Amino acid sequence: MPEGDSLHRAARRLQVLVGRRVEVETPHPRAAVKGLAQRLDGRKLESVEAVGKNLLLHFEGRLVLRSHLRMNGRWRVERRGTARRGKPWLVLRGDEYEGVLWNGAVLELVGEEATRRLGPDILGEPPDYGAMLSRLRAEPPAREVGDALLDQRLVAGIGNVWKAESLWEERVSPWRRLEDVGEGELRAVLEAAHELMRASLDGARRPRRAYRRAGRACPRCGGVARSAAQGAHARTAYWCPGCQVGGSPPPS
Ligand SMILES: [Zn+2]
Repeated sequence: MPEGDSLHRAARRLQVLVGRRVEVETPHPRAAVKGLAQRLDGRKLESVEAVGKNLLLHFEGRLVLRSHLRMNGRWRVERRGTARRGKPWLVLRGDEYEGVLWNGAVLELVGEEATRRLGPDILGEPPDYGAMLSRLRAEPPAREVGDALLDQRLVAGIGNVWKAESLWEERVSPWRRLEDVGEGELRAVLEAAHELMRASLDGARRPRRAYRRAGRACPRCGGVARSAAQGAHARTAYWCPGCQVGGSPPPS
């Protein structure tokens, strides 16, 4: 699943269209029914930003198009007129370049107020750690930290990979309750997520230490890593019980 860093990458690529008046097409039938092309065609694209796992495209007239890539969505930027097969969800055509969205999943016009319901972006420059911490502290204190980190209302942009990796970095078990995680520790986990995602955005390759390593030896302590479903959406948590202790993990 695309995480915040891949959305920021897409936002960077789409900057070539910012400030341009764009022709808008929605070739895919599931996108065509939304009537977006009629609303947006010929408007100027004023800005493109990644907020968490959402791409927000601001058009003149205070129209904001929200794109969330879900599992398979992908933005590409190509020279205008590049031949393609298949039906993309959306084509934004400028004088020289085209932004093309494949497998859109979530594509909708939203008011500017809707974009404010997301938590502060973990890839903000600089990230607003204070606001993230106060949102996390306003949650029920028994909520597990690994579950809370994926809640986009609290912190926008962290997905399952960087949740596992940032908790591992700071030796925090995903099963600890928010009330049992100190302020300094919680901030360190957020900082680790920011650093790791920032590096990934800049093209760094780093071997995974926790994500999808269940059953393998922990590179830090040699313990056997585990995985288990966590939270209301049963997303898989990965951790090392040897060096990320505490909380109430499911019995192995
Ligand atoms: Zn370990």
